[in-house]
Amino acid sequence: MNVEFANPAMESARILESRVAIVTGSTSGIGLGIARAFTVAGASVVLNGFGKPEEINDTVASLADGRGTRAIYSAADMSKPDEIAEMVRTTIETFGRLDILVNNAGIQHVSPVDQFPVEKWDAVIAINLSSAFHTIRAALPEMRRSGRGRIINIASAHALVGSPFKAAYVAAKHGIVGLTKVVALETAQEKITCNAICPGYVWTPLVEAQIEGQAKAHGIPREEVIRDVLLAQQPNKRFATVDEIGAFATFLASDAAASITGAALPVDGGWTAH
Ligand code: NAD
Repeated sequence: MNVEFANPAMESARILESRVAIVTGSTSGIGLGIARAFTVAGASVVLNGFGKPEEINDTVASLADGRGTRAIYSAADMSKPDEIAEMVRTTIETFGRLDILVNNAGIQHVSPVDQFPVEKWDAVIAINLSSAFHTIRAALPEMRRSGRGRIINIASAHALVGSPFKAAYVAAKHGIVGLTKVVALETAQEKITCNAICPGYVWTPLVEAQIEGQAKAHGIPREEVIRDVLLAQQPNKRFATVDEIGAFATFLASDAAASITGAALPVDGGWTAH
């Protein structure tokens, strides 16, 4: 006997039709991958992050797909609470709603803890952790008003395990998992979910910079850095792609993920299974 399982939530590829999403740090890398996946699924997107104005204009134009999705750009600096509040305000004024918030903007600095420059510590904590507090604080009233919401924090495998020389990054990423749990508990009965995605190494400009930096520091070829340094802890020995993270974020933002909340979800090729 053939049994067909109908899953209404997954029937259409446009599972985010007419939703509105902010994706912080989406001019590059994982954030851009998520923004693209969201627009393919039917959502309109607020792009954010730094970059050359002409490249950002091209990206914004490429995200509007002619089937009703729109894209706008916010230049808000995620280390500045006033600019964050303004970005959320402008989003709600422009689209009349805010359904999905992705806290993705992030930077890295590598240094032994006793030599870690104080201004680098402050910058990593501000951009990788405090920005998510400010966006969530500003976005929640609108999500509560509309009776639904999805908050997705892009954490890291470094939210679950440590590595030497990444004190600020590891502290910020562990912190964002704590914030994720608290927000999930406070919103659990309001059709709002809050989760953290914890990627291992994903092929992006942030990682490319680390490969170049390590190759120079140790005087070894980039292939050796990739194999023996970056992917040493990643059992599947491959970088994840931004499209994989985009697809997973799209699922978490969809109706089908309504019962997933407060979770720190590894996408790390088995790294944190050690
Ligand atoms: P990326 O450098 O390619 O992109 C970072 C984005 O953040 C860019 O759009 C940049 O303009 C933006 N940004 C930086 N500072 C900002 C600020 N002050 N205000 C606004 N935007 C700012 O990096 P990525 O690899 O795509 O990383 C994105 C997120 O994923 C980060 O939070 C990072 O920690 C996390 N992550 C990345 C990996 C990886 O292997 N690439 C693994 C785990 C987690």
